[in-house]
Amino acid sequence: MTTDGQLEQLGTKDKAWLGKYSQVHMNVFGTPLRVMDHGKGARIWDIDGNEYLDFLAGIAVNSLGYAHPAWVKAVSEQAAKVAHTSNYFATEPQIELAAKLVKLAGAPEGSHVYFGNSGAEGNEAAIKLAKLYGRTLPGALPEQGGKPARIISMVHGFHGRTLGALSATWKPVIREPFEPLVPAVEFVEPGDVEALKAAFDATGTAADGKGPVAAVIMELIQGEAGVMPVGAEYVRQARQLCDEHHALLIIDEVQTGVGRTGSWFAFQQKELSGGVTPDIITFAKGVAGGFPMGGMIAFGQQLSDLFTPGSHGSTFAGNPLGAAAALATLGVIEHDDLLANAQARGKQLREGIMATGNPLFKSTRGAGLLDAVELAHPCAHAAMNWMLEHGLIVNAVAPDALRLAPPLIVSAQDVDEAVSIMAGVPADLADD
Ligand SMILES: *Cc1c(COP(=O)(O)O)cnc(C)c1O
Repeated sequence: MTTDGQLEQLGTKDKAWLGKYSQVHMNVFGTPLRVMDHGKGARIWDIDGNEYLDFLAGIAVNSLGYAHPAWVKAVSEQAAKVAHTSNYFATEPQIELAAKLVKLAGAPEGSHVYFGNSGAEGNEAAIKLAKLYGRTLPGALPEQGGKPARIISMVHGFHGRTLGALSATWKPVIREPFEPLVPAVEFVEPGDVEALKAAFDATGTAADGKGPVAAVIMELIQGEAGVMPVGAEYVRQARQLCDEHHALLIIDEVQTGVGRTGSWFAFQQKELSGGVTPDIITFAKGVAGGFPMGGMIAFGQQLSDLFTPGSHGSTFAGNPLGAAAALATLGVIEHDDLLANAQARGKQLREGIMATGNPLFKSTRGAGLLDAVELAHPCAHAAMNWMLEHGLIVNAVAPDALRLAPPLIVSAQDVDEAVSIMAGVPADLADD
């Protein structure tokens, strides 16, 4: 192992391909760590033949790991039948999938699904629906002398990088260069009920009064912020304030959903949500086990009815290949009881990490298989690189935290192996 720059550690094929990559790819992701070739289960191999145990799973996407036989079969069979139709036509998989998602979310009679192709698109749809809803609130129509309804998002919240979703994404360095964005989006500190109350109370008819609040949008565990739960009691009180002020509660389940935290959706765990029911949830990442797919579920008929022909759409929305991939993914999660596996392996992982006694590991947090280990000093990139070179993929999600999100099929043996690699990381790595 060399201690020079990352490129010095790459195999020859990797180096050659990454040279080409940088000539033709927009440099928005930095230099990729490796060029990957193929995977099986929780393992993936780079083009130089090096094997890695993958505890990131394409950022909580590859729910069934790589090349799961049921997933491969479903996608191949669908590809041989029909891969795309446009929304002038429907297909069986998309109809079955929408029904299945409504059922798994426990959404009430009359709930409806909108399909997009990513998390950002799920949130774009949710924001547009919230805007239509906002126009039904008293005093919200500018053309009648009212003030536009507002959307309240959370400090450290992440909802995607398209312009609408970005408006509700907090991180200033990724948002501010693109301002002005969608107006009337505000941020409050999660956990601070008084701040949320004050934001609601700013509504008024006086000259300095603002429009009513159409929606509050939040993640239950802020994934990109470092796997930070916002707190069940806060969510419960936010729900109450939304009810009092006739605002929608949008829960972004793009990262937490589809079994990742040990339940189908995180809001179904009282410890994460205080037992609330949302008005809208958005989903993506893990739903189709690696196929691009996302969307939203609007809870109930009345809210669903606000979208009418022309309100929204996308050429690929509800694409049959994605729907088949999702049905296969959900089917395996159900059949193999991967929700229980996510809970058990998550617990094993968090306890195993602390049991290593490595002084670099200060604490763990998270739920199911969406976890982070807090480091004693800010060396997350160095720690991630060390682990990568020792055959384990993790993610430096914050300067002092590593995110762990293995596939839901991960075995007890895989977890033991990951923990034993992590145990060896030098505690005195240089800070990033
Ligand atoms: C990843 C993520 C998104 C954005 O999803 P994309 O598919 O990258 O557009 C939105 N919200 C949350 C909570 C996420 O983790």
